[in-house]
Amino acid sequence: MSVLGDLIDFFSKLPNLGPRSARRIVLHLLKNKEKLIPYITSSLDNLKSSLTFCQKCGNVDTSSPCGICTSEKRKAEKVCVVEDVGDLWAIEKSKAYNGHYHVLGGVLSAIDGIGPDELNLSSLFKRMKNNDIKEVILATNATVEGQITAQFIADSCEKNNILVTRLAQGIPIGGELDNLDYNTLSTAFSSRSEMKTNL
Ligand SMILES: [Zn+2]
Repeated sequence: MSVLGDLIDFFSKLPNLGPRSARRIVLHLLKNKEKLIPYITSSLDNLKSSLTFCQKCGNVDTSSPCGICTSEKRKAEKVCVVEDVGDLWAIEKSKAYNGHYHVLGGVLSAIDGIGPDELNLSSLFKRMKNNDIKEVILATNATVEGQITAQFIADSCEKNNILVTRLAQGIPIGGELDNLDYNTLSTAFSSRSEMKTNL
């Protein structure tokens, strides 16, 4: 029983999982153990042996510096700051951006005891000082912690005379006004921009 209990306990501590989902996962693995366990074991081995964090930007790749940092096709003077690698993947999937990144590994949070030293910030400030960064694009989440973190970085950009921009926030494509919450609507108002015409 302790084998099962320990494993359920382990899974229940993973992000976004609780004891209920953890129990389901462990039972599913047990029912399909011949097929799933060898696959998971070798995948985890590969994860450990072949992937690393890029020392420059914090991305995950098979090499450091990563493929994005070393690509000659990308614009090194633009750096998009994201909270986690998952956010980088989402932006890459959109194909909307062709610059470099910096992955913070979280956000500033007084409640959780996460200060600037706990995030991948010192290497960002070093890049600002050493590199030819012309624009820092802040793409942290629109949460209180995300906004505070963005403001903290923006202050540092100003000191280094670097243009700082923030992703537009507000009404989603296909969104209807009467379905939006107050915060989304007020952010949309405060970040409104001039409408361009083709004339
Ligand atoms: Zn990199």
